[in-house]
Amino acid sequence: MSNITLTPQELVKRGKWIDYRDPIWGDSYNWSWNRSTNDVKFVTLHHSVTDHNATPDDIALMHMARGWGGIGYHFVITKDGTVYYVGDIGTARANVLNKNEQVIGICMIGDFTKHLPSDEQIISAHELCKFLLFDIDAYPYLKDWNQLVGHKDMQATACPGSSWPNDMRKRIIDSRPYTPVENTPVPPLPEPEPAPAPSSLVRDENTLIEVGGDFKIMKLLTIKELLTAWKRELEEIKNIPIGVRDILELKTTLKDVAGMIQAVGSDVIDLRNKGGVNCSVYTSKLKEITAIVHGRGWSRTKVNKIKKLLEEA
Ligand SMILES: [Zn+2]
Repeated sequence: MSNITLTPQELVKRGKWIDYRDPIWGDSYNWSWNRSTNDVKFVTLHHSVTDHNATPDDIALMHMARGWGGIGYHFVITKDGTVYYVGDIGTARANVLNKNEQVIGICMIGDFTKHLPSDEQIISAHELCKFLLFDIDAYPYLKDWNQLVGHKDMQATACPGSSWPNDMRKRIIDSRPYTPVENTPVPPLPEPEPAPAPSSLVRDENTLIEVGGDFKIMKLLTIKELLTAWKRELEEIKNIPIGVRDILELKTTLKDVAGMIQAVGSDVIDLRNKGGVNCSVYTSKLKEITAIVHGRGWSRTKVNKIKKLLEEA
């Protein structure tokens, strides 16, 4: 167990810091093992190779679908420049093969072989790295910008994208975003909402998923997936054929239900990888259900609450 609280003042002041170790999927405090501050020699930058709008929960679910105990990074920086503290820095996680005890892993959301980080990501990455390299005395080997490396500097990979190290690394060190500050209109105009991606239809077995389009269709599909997976799992456990409507009436152990939800999480990731859809709404629904399941006791009220959540979706 390691629980190191961090307070990077610059990020906190700008409202760009969230300690997300408790809410995120998986284990942020124990997995994969505790390490000494003397082990840590690098701050390592990654990209997520996902849609630019993916969330830390999306990444955590992807990692747990690989059978990991939690998210592989220590920090995630989303497109809007918010820094999420997701894995305790006293734990070695999983982001550089065979060198996990040596690195603090920062993942910027996006696929930087296809596009650049946002200006906000560059600025927040600068502030986070500066804090880790200069402001935490407990780490004797972290002391200047030489310790800032990219994943590709440690292992054969394209991560974190085409402009690392030449341009991206310098921009992070200098806190120099892509949009020149002097060209920013004063007062800055609010950014227009990004236009929805062109809608396309993907056939997945017998179901149509509208990618980047109607969210409702996606949610109906995933709830159907949820029920189907529950049914499958319950039939295996109880060894009896049952109807979907009976599922929530069945007395089963809390552990069984938690396992089913985990299994369904992996299915959703599969769908997302196939269709490229954003599953964050679904993720929050799953988290609500998981929270109820993990609460104490198992009652009619609880079953009704879960039913209601499924109906709302
Ligand atoms: Zn990487």
